[in-house]
Amino acid sequence: MMLIATTIAIALFASTAFAAAPAASTTAVPPMIVYISAGAEVSVALVSRICAEAEAIWRPAGITFLWRRTPRVTAASTVATDDGPFVPDTLRLTIGAERGSGRDGRLPLGWIVFDAATAPQQDIYLSHRNAREMLENAAGVVGISAQMPPAQRDILLARAMGRALAHELGHYLLASKVHSERGLMKAILTAVELFGPDASAFQIDAAQRRTVAARLRGEPLVASR
Ligand SMILES: [Zn+2]
Repeated sequence: MMLIATTIAIALFASTAFAAAPAASTTAVPPMIVYISAGAEVSVALVSRICAEAEAIWRPAGITFLWRRTPRVTAASTVATDDGPFVPDTLRLTIGAERGSGRDGRLPLGWIVFDAATAPQQDIYLSHRNAREMLENAAGVVGISAQMPPAQRDILLARAMGRALAHELGHYLLASKVHSERGLMKAILTAVELFGPDASAFQIDAAQRRTVAARLRGEPLVASR
């Protein structure tokens, strides 16, 4: 009993100390909340790796995420409704087997639909099926995926899908469909950039960082070009 009481006392003290911190720092950027719905063929471990990869790309820009799993049984009804928890600092991520429609015959790894030029829907899709096919097509760079241990294949798939997720989050958070020559918003990536251990090509510049931080703080959003 004493042990429990002591634990509560410590917890209260800790939360009081924590609550005092934001008042001193009004510039803190709140996290982006992402509700995840993944098909049964996508393992929990793979989903975690995908999120970690995307988060590692955004972290140097001061942007953080809260990843929430949507139970698979309720995923369908979540899709159908526009109300509920999906306010602008939240979006829904679906990881499934859809093919999407790429440009110039290229397979898209992920996509986000815009209602207007600066109005992205709160919905990102990642295609694990396309990622697997791209991995097979990248045998010259990564080796033959069918001969890899499953864990190694997952690491490679998570890099590509996590980087694609970071890019689509960029479209959402910048409220822009525009691509750039280099950095996170580059449209077309090589197999090395997608599957290699180095994610430094996915940089977020200072202007992008300011725009995203303003959006997450709820300040008026100026669409980036
Ligand atoms: Zn794009």
